[in-house]
Amino acid sequence: MNRRSFIRIGGAALAGSVISTQTARAAGIGLELPKLPYAPEALEPHIDAMTMSIHHDKHHAAYIAKLTDALKAIGKESADPVALIKSLDAVPKDQQMAVRNHGGGHVNHTWFWNWMAPAGGPGPGGKAAAAIQSTFGSIDDFKKTFSDAATKRFGSGWAWLIVKSDGKLAVTSTPNQDNPLMKGVVPDSDLGTPILGIDVWEHAYYLKYQNKRPDYIAAWWNVVNWAEVGRQFEAAK
Ligand code: MN
Repeated sequence: MNRRSFIRIGGAALAGSVISTQTARAAGIGLELPKLPYAPEALEPHIDAMTMSIHHDKHHAAYIAKLTDALKAIGKESADPVALIKSLDAVPKDQQMAVRNHGGGHVNHTWFWNWMAPAGGPGPGGKAAAAIQSTFGSIDDFKKTFSDAATKRFGSGWAWLIVKSDGKLAVTSTPNQDNPLMKGVVPDSDLGTPILGIDVWEHAYYLKYQNKRPDYIAAWWNVVNWAEVGRQFEAAK
């Protein structure tokens, strides 16, 4: 490869990755395992490379495989996973739980990779920062509320920052792979569009943090992709 073609290919790859992050939701997420937007070791020392590799290559891939099986069973392989989890009532009864668990798992993890970045930055900016401050009092108060929700989630699940239908922000938590978009599953008071979420399944932290979930949560703030949170806030409003 000569230098000119290398530069051209590099530029195209860069443009592609920017577009895929910014339009991931608008374009739908399909049934492919998305590439991690950074190397598995890029979040060290906060999240270790082996956890990232197993979490992405094995756990996320397994959710997609089982979701694909469920969608094949009902002839809906081309359906948008986000649309499916928003309307689980429309999924035939015998596959509802599979789509809830594995569709939720696929959507949640696809977003989770983009909610982290190697240089996460100190905190939110712009309109998202103003909304977080006016809702929670301060960025630190928001982090405390969110961390408490993540710490207190019994067993496996997620904590979320959501934009509710009235445009207000709220912190919620769901068990298993449930997502705040799941109408009829999540209590109405917890429904909304996630703009940030943390996975508190043990597979997300056990290799490095063992039983110390609060240490994982504290470290995770160092890799939060606030630029993505800001974009999702604008899109959800
Ligand atoms: Mn996970």
